[in-house]
Parts: sequence; structure tokens; C-alpha cells
Amino acid sequence: MGMEKVNLKEAVLWEPEKAGKKVRCSLCAHRCVIDEGKLGRCCVRRNIDGVLYSLTYDKVCSANPDPIEKKPLFHFQPGSQSFSIATMGCNFRCIFCQNWQISQPAVEDGRIDGQPISPRQIVASAVRTGCKSIAYTYTEPTVFMELCADCGRLGRQKGLRNVFVSNGYQTKEAIDFAGEWLDGINIDLKAFSEDYYKRLCKARLQPVLDTISYIAKETNIWLEITTLLVPDENDSDDELKKLADFIVQQAGTDVPWHISRFYPQYKYLDSVATPISSLERAYDIGKSAGLHYVYLGNVPGAKSETTFCYNCGTMLIERVGYHIAANRVKDSSCPDCGAKIAGFEL
Ligand code: SF4
Repeated sequence: MGMEKVNLKEAVLWEPEKAGKKVRCSLCAHRCVIDEGKLGRCCVRRNIDGVLYSLTYDKVCSANPDPIEKKPLFHFQPGSQSFSIATMGCNFRCIFCQNWQISQPAVEDGRIDGQPISPRQIVASAVRTGCKSIAYTYTEPTVFMELCADCGRLGRQKGLRNVFVSNGYQTKEAIDFAGEWLDGINIDLKAFSEDYYKRLCKARLQPVLDTISYIAKETNIWLEITTLLVPDENDSDDELKKLADFIVQQAGTDVPWHISRFYPQYKYLDSVATPISSLERAYDIGKSAGLHYVYLGNVPGAKSETTFCYNCGTMLIERVGYHIAANRVKDSSCPDCGAKIAGFEL
């Protein structure tokens, strides 16, 4: 029986396998080989009659302006609003997912909810609400790349920037494909062990490390990194030291590192919220490794949301929650000592 193709968008970055009607998707590191009629691991891309389609192109489940600080991106157009969109689905299965209500239903029971909002409408809404960028966020943007690309190209024509909030599981081909219109990315580096990625996310660490190195060294995409600190899972001194050293060596000291507080979620409920002392310990480890900008997230009122000059220590960007109380950066430099402050349109 033929499947309904109405409103489906042919996928990008796939090719037919040599035999039969199988296809191979090369958007993410799973590199699924998909039989005719079947879905990829993300459950939002289907092989119909030997052609791969995106099932979510016309099913937008979130679309609203958000502070760019909420992504979090702290060194990217600070104080601006970013029009944030998502569709359902994900290529990871994190058992503590904060957005499991939209990331996992496609996997759990094949449910894909959303509205047909066209790229033209999304870009128009972003412009109308005074946003400076479009953020592809809440779920993994890689698996809705077709919508990202169409919004991204159109948005660029209207002067909008584009940012991803991502698990970093893209292939090099996908990064190159997005590089034409993608300006910034926050990548979750969830831990520094293969065991953690395998056990808790059903994925692998190495492709994420490869993505971080590739983006930092081979592209002009602005990069920030986030680590959710889960008690007794990824918060040992040894692991955090290795993770921070990796950022310094592969991405450089200017890449902001956000250390985020964990709260029990989804299927991971037998735990406590991350103790503040662990977050502060991780902060010190990041600074000792040489990182210029380390921030603590999900900790209301923490001073560690503020950007200080890495050279002279003066306060540069003061944040209160997602609000910018002061921004003293001048011409991407510290007004007191002249040190260059890395970022995008600071
Ligand atoms: S995007 Fe989906 S279909 Fe493609 S390789 Fe990743 S999990 Fe598989």
C-alpha cells in the first residue's frame, strides 16, 4: 500500500543504497540505513518508495520569541530576542530530557503534533516581534534540517541570524550544509564518557567531540558549550577536568562553557538537584583549565551569570536572569584594559 506523500518534504542529505529501495540518511552520526516504508531512529524521517521524507516540515510545535540568553548563548547578540521554533522528534533518548513532551512522543507512540507554519510566516513573525535571530531549539534541530534551511536562507535575506541549540550529533556533511546560513550554535557536551552517552542517551560521545572540533576549527559558526551536571553521573573532578581540557585544546579558551543545574526529570527521578557546591567546583575546574568564560545556569541569582573581562577582571555584561542589566563591551573589547572579548555582535 502506498503511503501518503501529501505535505511531506523530501529530505536533504540522503542517498539510495545500492540494492533495493533502502536509503541511507547522513544528517546525523547514526547514519541510519532505512528500509522501504520504515523510519529512521529519530522517528520523523521515513523512506517512502525509496525516497527519504521529513515528516515534520509542516508541523511546528513551538514558535515564540525568547531571550537569546535562554538558549543559552551569552556572547551572541546579547540582550536580543531570538524567534524560537521546534518540531517534534529527536535522535537521542536522554532519560532526563527536559523537553521530553515534544522530543519523545514520535519515538514512544509515533505521535507528531504541530501546525503548518511556513518558513515565510516564521520569518515574518520573527521580524514583526523584533527578533534579531531565529533559534532552532527545544528539540534537536538536526532532525528538522529541511525547515531550518528554508527559514535560515529566507531569514538571512531579511537580516536575521540563525542559531542552533543542539546535541552536536551532526555529520560533517550536515554542518557544511548548514554552514551557509548558520551563525551560532550551543552544543551540549553532556559528559566526557562513552558509558554515559550510551547508557543515558542511547548515543555516542565521539561524534559530539568531532562536531565541536570541526565547528571550532573549520567554520565561522560562533560556538558555546553546555554541560548539565548530573549528581554522581558526570560530576567527578577527573571527568570535569578532562572535559574542560578538551574544550581548551580543541575549541579554545574563548569558547563559553555553561554548567547547568540538573533537576530530576522524565524517567530520571531518583536523584536530587545538583548541589550548588558541585556547580561551583565545576566552575573552578573550568577556570583552572584556562577557559575565559564559565557560567552557571539554572541557578537564580548566581553571580556566575555575569561576564567578566578574562584579562583585568572588570564586570562587562551583567545579567539578572535572562535580562541584561548592563553591557560595557565596546567594539568587542574591554573598555578598561582593551582586551578583545570574543563573541558575535557584542
Ligand atoms: S537524522 Fe534521523 S534518520 Fe537521519 S541518521 Fe539521524 S536518526 Fe537516522
